[in-house]
Amino acid sequence: MSRSFLDLALPGVQQLSPYVPGKPVEELAREFNLNPADIVKLASNENPLGPSPKVCQAIEQALPELTRYPDGSGFALKSQLATHYNVDAAQITLGNGSNDILELVARAWLAPGSNAIFSEHAFAVYPIATLASGAECRQVPANNYGHDLEAMAAAIDSNTRVVFIANPNNPTGTWFDQAALNSFLAKVPADVLVVLDEAYIEYAADTDLPDGMAYLSRYPNLLVSRTFSKAYGLAALRVGYAISSLDIAEVLNRVRQPFNVNSLALVAACAALQDQDYLERSRDNNKQGMQQLEAGFKKLGLSWLPSKGNFIAVEFQGDAAAINQALLEQGVIVRPVAGYGMANFLRVSIGTATENQRFLDVLTQVLQQD
Ligand SMILES: *Cc1c(COP(=O)(O)O)cnc(C)c1O
Repeated sequence: MSRSFLDLALPGVQQLSPYVPGKPVEELAREFNLNPADIVKLASNENPLGPSPKVCQAIEQALPELTRYPDGSGFALKSQLATHYNVDAAQITLGNGSNDILELVARAWLAPGSNAIFSEHAFAVYPIATLASGAECRQVPANNYGHDLEAMAAAIDSNTRVVFIANPNNPTGTWFDQAALNSFLAKVPADVLVVLDEAYIEYAADTDLPDGMAYLSRYPNLLVSRTFSKAYGLAALRVGYAISSLDIAEVLNRVRQPFNVNSLALVAACAALQDQDYLERSRDNNKQGMQQLEAGFKKLGLSWLPSKGNFIAVEFQGDAAAINQALLEQGVIVRPVAGYGMANFLRVSIGTATENQRFLDVLTQVLQQD
C-alpha cells in the first residue's frame, strides 16, 4: 500500500491535534432537529451583544469597493491603533485574527531544533503553531490551573525561541499580576521572544492585570497580541494585531500574506475602536453575567475557576462529557475542555442575562436527572 499523505506530512504535523471549535448553532440544529432560534451558544467566547451598529454602517459603506484588494499596509487601522496606544504605527502588525499573529511568530522563529514554551491548560493554538513549524513544544505544568511563570522562565534553554503566555488565559480564565510579569520578564533572556496574548484584556480593565503595552519600551523582546474578536465583537471578521519593537515587527511583515486582513475587517475594526461605548457595554454585560453564573453555580453546589475573561470554567464531579451531551440535547452549547486536560470542566462563555439564565435552568434540570 502506498503511504498516506499523513505519513508523508512533517513529523510535527503528524503529531498535532486539530483545533476543535465550539459547535455552530446550525450544526446542532441539524443534529437534534432543533429550531436554531431556540439554541443558546455559549461556546466560543463571542460577544453576546451583537456587533456595534457603527461597525455595520462602516461595512455597508465599504461594500462598493469589494472588487479592490484591501490596503495591504492597513494604514488607517494602524494609524488609529498607534494613536490609541501611543505607539509608532510601524510597531503594529495586523493579523487575520490574532491567531494569524501567533502563526506568523511560529513561522518566523520556530523550526526543527528549536522549542517554544507554554503552560499546561493554555490556549490550543500555541501547540498547533509550534508543531506545524516543526519545533518542540515545552509544556510547563500549571500552578492551580494558572501559568507558573517561574517554572516557565526556568524551562528556557539555548534552543528556546518563543514563550507564549496568555493573560487572562483561555480556557482557565486565570491571570497573573504586575509583580509576576515584572519578575518573569526580568528573567527571560533578551533573545527569547515573549508573546503576551491579551485577547481578553479589555474585560480586565480596572483590575490588577498588567497592561502589556506599558512594558514594550523596556522589553524589545516582547510582543503584545490583541484582537477585535472578543470584547469588540468582531469574531467573524478575523482581525487582530501585535504591538512590538520595530525589530520584531519588521520580521513579521516579511512572512505575513500581503493582504492578510480583508477590507471589511479593516473598516470594521476602525469603527469598533472608535465606539468605546460599545466596549463599555460589553464590559458591563460581562461583569453582570459573570456574577449571574457564579451565583447560579453556587446554588448548584458547583465550583469554578475565578475568571477575568468573558468565560468561566465550571467543575463537575467526574467527566463532564455526559453533562455536555445532555446540555446539547436541550439546545445549549458550551465548550468541553477535555482536550486541555480539564475533562471535569465545561467552559461557559458569558452571554446575555437571558442566555445565561437559560443555561442555568437547563443545567439545573440536567444535574437533577443524574
Ligand atoms: C480567542 C483567542 C485568540 C484569538 O482569537 P482571534 O479571533 O484569532 O483574534 C487568541 N488567544 C486567546 C487566548 C484566545 O482565547
